[in-house]
Amino acid sequence: MLDEGYIKYESHWTPGPASHVTAARDLEFWRRPLYEAQLIGEYKEHGIGYGNISVRRGSSGLFLISGTQTGHLPVTDERHYSLVTDCDIRANTVRCSGPIQASSEAMTHAAIYALSGTIGAIVHAHSAELWQRHLGKLPTTDADVAYGTPEMAQELERLYRMEGLCDSGIAVLAGHDDGLVSFGTTMEEAATRMLNLARPG
Ligand SMILES: [Zn+2]
Repeated sequence: MLDEGYIKYESHWTPGPASHVTAARDLEFWRRPLYEAQLIGEYKEHGIGYGNISVRRGSSGLFLISGTQTGHLPVTDERHYSLVTDCDIRANTVRCSGPIQASSEAMTHAAIYALSGTIGAIVHAHSAELWQRHLGKLPTTDADVAYGTPEMAQELERLYRMEGLCDSGIAVLAGHDDGLVSFGTTMEEAATRMLNLARPG
């Protein structure tokens, strides 16, 4: 089932000018090879973008994330990123501000940042090939848990504490077709983990 692009939580967006311009440009720097590898892109037959990236801003849980439906763009800049200012996993609400509404998958990014203060950046990519190859081999979420839900937050925590996700920094999302997620202390580390998986040989 293609559930990309649907916001499952209650979203509160405060439109405003772009902030965190330098961080947005760093995201774009690492997004480029991910886009070229088609780990971020668009399901053309459905016209739905996929894949998103984020970077932590400060110590209070803020993060800058790609805006909703930007997956198809070959190049992004600060106008395509949204600052998530508050995320309540239990109440299923997300607040964001900036020139664009946050990605529909902001809730899952927030759940990953909540796992550890050492997690500084996150990549969520789609690849049918990598998904099939690594399903059940890398830490893998329960297929019954839908992406972007409060249950997914609990499932990621289980993988992080019990299934080695804290060491691998990369997981397969069984309940989200083609979906994988990687993280690291920096965007370079998060992106490199995903790109290494996709490298032939
Ligand atoms: Zn996805």
